[in-house]
Amino acid sequence: MKNHSLSVLSIITTMCLFVSLNLMGQNKDLPNVIILATGGTIAGSAESGTQAGYTSGQVGIETMIEAVPGIKELANVTGEQLSNVGSQDMSVAIWIKLANRINELLATDDVDGIVITHGTDTQEETAFFLNLVVKSDKPVVTTGSMRPSTAVSAEGPLNLYNAVAIAADTKAKGHGVLVVMNDQIHSAHGVTKTNTTSVQTFMSPMHGLTGAVLYGKHEFYHEPHGIHTTNSEFSLDGVTTLPRVDIVYGAVDSPADLIEASIKSGARGIVIAGVGNGNMNAATLAACKKAAATGIKVVRSTRVPTGYVLRNAEVNDDENGTIASDELNAQKSRVLLMLALLKERSTEEVQRLFYTY
Ligand code: ASP
Repeated sequence: MKNHSLSVLSIITTMCLFVSLNLMGQNKDLPNVIILATGGTIAGSAESGTQAGYTSGQVGIETMIEAVPGIKELANVTGEQLSNVGSQDMSVAIWIKLANRINELLATDDVDGIVITHGTDTQEETAFFLNLVVKSDKPVVTTGSMRPSTAVSAEGPLNLYNAVAIAADTKAKGHGVLVVMNDQIHSAHGVTKTNTTSVQTFMSPMHGLTGAVLYGKHEFYHEPHGIHTTNSEFSLDGVTTLPRVDIVYGAVDSPADLIEASIKSGARGIVIAGVGNGNMNAATLAACKKAAATGIKVVRSTRVPTGYVLRNAEVNDDENGTIASDELNAQKSRVLLMLALLKERSTEEVQRLFYTY
């Protein structure tokens, strides 16, 4: 026990030293911002500046920082390479590593804000996950780009500049995790990717923008919706993985046996990306009711890009044992349900979480 405490203490001391050494020699008047790089198109490269094909996650964080003129005038910037993947390969294992590192860094007085560089494909999921498990009100900002670093008019450097400017600003405290792309500030709760290739891809259709940013100068319009970070009831203490939750997509005559197949493969929760207001065909609803009766949590979300999924609208949730996703799209519903399933919870309790986060 004693040896264990000693080794924990020495690890903590080494880490504190590592952080302070990294920041040594930097400007004491500037805030300290750490950039945690995970990959994505912002770190992508192609053979020519005008081709559509490229490979994500090729460029290291130091090169990315060097590509941003003036970034070091905003903050003392230190980069750490956490992973280097296209965000289609983002994983629960990287999420947990990322969240633990953020919590560790923000717990020290040496770090004022965090920027995470990330692919755009799953950025909204990572931002929402972090929004629920980061235990600090200091700024945490995710960013990325749609064009690889080698493209003509690559927008990654300006996105990174803007993200650092916001992470360095104490006014960004208490807003939860923010997504900064293309001169816009979005909340993790509200943001979604809406276009496969356009630079203007992220939107917040339900609540609107959280703010705007222009060459680092920024303004916040309103507080993000939903409980987050320091007020969130979720914690990753002792957590090494998350329960499996599958998304089943609704369409005309879609097969109901996908639900059973998911459960057989180990899913403890199912999210329906339903048609319209979280609707599904009769066979799928019957399969959901059967699954819910055995304790599987079934959340009705929607494949429609905007709008609420209302409890007991066309589907009687009380009768079927299902949960309405309220404002969350299918991919964010999955994140919330994975965290909800870390603990034994009743269906009513999980419904409360969907109204709250
Ligand atoms: N597939 C890339 C990714 O998500 C797309 C991007 O970053 O824009 O990593």
